[in-house]
Amino acid sequence: DNPIQRKPAWIRVKAPTSKVYRETRDIVRSKKLHTVCEEAACPNIGECWSKKHATMMIMGEICTRACAFCNVTTGKPNALDSLEPFNVAAAVAELGLEHVVITSVDRDDLADGGAEHFAQVITAIHEKTPDTTVEILTPDFKGKKGVLKTVVDAKPDVFNHNLETVPRLYPNIRPGARYFTSLSLLEQVKEIDPSMFTKSGIMVGLGETREEVGQVMDDLRAADVDFLTIGQYLQPTPKHAAIDRFVTPDEFEAYAKMARGKGFLLVSSSPLTRSSYHAGDDFQQLRAA
Ligand code: SF4
Ligand code: SF4
Repeated sequence: DNPIQRKPAWIRVKAPTSKVYRETRDIVRSKKLHTVCEEAACPNIGECWSKKHATMMIMGEICTRACAFCNVTTGKPNALDSLEPFNVAAAVAELGLEHVVITSVDRDDLADGGAEHFAQVITAIHEKTPDTTVEILTPDFKGKKGVLKTVVDAKPDVFNHNLETVPRLYPNIRPGARYFTSLSLLEQVKEIDPSMFTKSGIMVGLGETREEVGQVMDDLRAADVDFLTIGQYLQPTPKHAAIDRFVTPDEFEAYAKMARGKGFLLVSSSPLTRSSYHAGDDFQQLRAA
């Protein structure tokens, strides 16, 4: 009776087989990059990598936190790799990416949470491939405003920080994080640079109610957040938080309508939506519009 075994039809994904998928994989391997696509066993890897779209994970593969939904290893991380900004920028160039998503593990062991390193990666990509738009998906930097400014000043095109779930479920799902710290981080990004696009996302199917999801949307709009993603939570292993239920495609569509009605500029709400799913395509369209 394991929910992982009982996925509804709308969750099934195609096995990755394309030539471009293999090329992407080879570049990721040869540059020794970590990707969320692999670490999180993302169901979209076949589709994304076939379009050379990958989410790079920087600052190592060991996280100082232990969120109940996440498959990344928890422990004491290794020292930062000072060559990483250049390796990531070289990989972005080799992959020929128009848009790249950069994320990281949480580095509560570092005084600045890794903000300076994040900024160096953004700068290295801007220097190597100035036309590539950069989206970052960051940890909460424990809500420290000074370090946040370091990252914002490096001028990413999109600043994403996920709320992940509704506040009531934080103690179980996101222990170590605070809902209002995350919300105020997004608010502060806009204060530091009002021209920067901000983005956030939640997973559903964890036991949240429709009203609670609506409240999260209102909170995000009050913080002037521009883009929203909503996707089905999938339990990575039986040791992780259990799935409460599979939200139906119609319910996702209703959430999308609700979000557009509340004024989000870009909304992705579907069972397989992840924070980086179609991020590049959607953002390029918005810029062209
Ligand atoms: Fe990677 Fe994001 Fe695509 Fe998943 S949705 S495969 S994490 S780029
Ligand atoms: Fe995973 Fe991020 Fe939580 Fe670390 S902070 S366990 S990488 S979701």
